[in-house]
Amino acid sequence: MDFELTREQRAVRAMAREWALAEVAPVIHRYDEAHEFPHELLQSLGKTGLLGALVPEEYGGAALDYVSYALAVEEINRVDASVGITMWAHNSLCTNHIALFGSKEQKAAYLPRLARGKALGAWGLTEPGSGSDAAAMTSRAIREGDHFVLNGSKAFITNAGVAEVAVVMAVTDPASGNKGISAFVLERGMQGFSAGRPYRKLGLHASNTAELIFDSVAVPAANLVGELHRGFVNTMQVLEGGRVAMAAMAVGIAQAALDQALVYMKQRRAFGKTLAEFNGLQGMIADIGTEVEAARLLTLRAAALKDAGRPAKTAASMAKVFASEVAMKAASKALQIHGGAGYITEFPIERIFRDAKLTEIGEGTSEIQRMVIARDILGFHQERASP
Ligand SMILES: Cc1cc2nc3c(=O)[nH]c(=O)nc-3n(C[C@H](O)[C@H](O)[C@H](O)COP(=O)(O)OP(=O)(O)OC[C@H]3O[C@@H](n4cnc5c(N)ncnc54)[C@H](O)[C@@H]3O)c2cc1C
Repeated sequence: MDFELTREQRAVRAMAREWALAEVAPVIHRYDEAHEFPHELLQSLGKTGLLGALVPEEYGGAALDYVSYALAVEEINRVDASVGITMWAHNSLCTNHIALFGSKEQKAAYLPRLARGKALGAWGLTEPGSGSDAAAMTSRAIREGDHFVLNGSKAFITNAGVAEVAVVMAVTDPASGNKGISAFVLERGMQGFSAGRPYRKLGLHASNTAELIFDSVAVPAANLVGELHRGFVNTMQVLEGGRVAMAAMAVGIAQAALDQALVYMKQRRAFGKTLAEFNGLQGMIADIGTEVEAARLLTLRAAALKDAGRPAKTAASMAKVFASEVAMKAASKALQIHGGAGYITEFPIERIFRDAKLTEIGEGTSEIQRMVIARDILGFHQERASP
């Protein structure tokens, strides 16, 4: 067992950290307060190659291994999770779906633009009436000659209002349950295709989350991604990688909470000492530090399994549920260490605390991850799965 990162992996991590500290850290508080999407940060991120992290080199991508990608995701979320979730939906969901299952023509048409950050991507599975039970979706695509007519809507879609490209799932054979769902790639500007107003959210204020609306959109048959009726099966594979990235996102948030706690407790004084000198608070720091490290190890293990081409579904779910709960605990303890200062928006811990919660919900809730893990441990066949 080798715990050492390669030189390339360390270089990717350092590059992501430097970029996030130089570009994101100085301005993100302003975007978060204004609930504003940071377009220029995403343009700048595109120049680093990280918006093409999982894209093959022949399509202009960086073709990173999953361990490198997880390290980059962690470092960016360590500085800000709004930029982090934007990058996650773009890379792990939209772009990766096309890279894994798109035709040669679709890859050539979309991947170079997505990889350079010339276009942002969104990915729509969840609907107002179906989240955990994703196969219960009702968006419908009906074949008419050389195109499909798409009707319905998607809920809670990251980047919905800022993406140029979206991969969305719809029912193509209602009689066949999850074997009657297909994926389509849509472009902004298609008639009948629109995004709703951004939701006002608990956290991730500088990310865009909205509905996607399909009002008799004529989608060319050439925009079917992967085989007809295989959309749900392919989605499960996309989600596996997405969960590794969401776990890395949670590790970054947890590490950020720890970083903030350390800074604060070394400077704040009470009873003639710094907070860092109190045993009770040292215990909290020991717990956070240990749990962050454990979450990182589980995440990198899942990433390494993907790199080795080995089954990673359960490992991804284990990493995701553990890391997201560590992120919540770490943020809560780090805020406690700040006392009243943690409750006001002047200190980053307030934003970190709000942002952490999403990692327990998005990409499959903690309850759904536990279902996936338990079924694997018990040897049960998985009939349904969820985002
Ligand atoms: C900020 C944000 C960004 C998102 N981005 C995207 C995106 O880009 N693309 C996308 O497709 N979706 C996205 N989502 C949607 C997200 O994946 C869903 O919210 C999530 O899967 C949960 O679905 P739901 O909200 O419908 O909750 P529900 O499925 O209604 O679940 C409600 C509660 O019931 C529990 N529950 C449900 N079924 C079971 C069960 N069988 N056993 C035990 N408990 C159960 C859940 O764990 C949860 O606690 C995003 C959501 C948010 C908040």
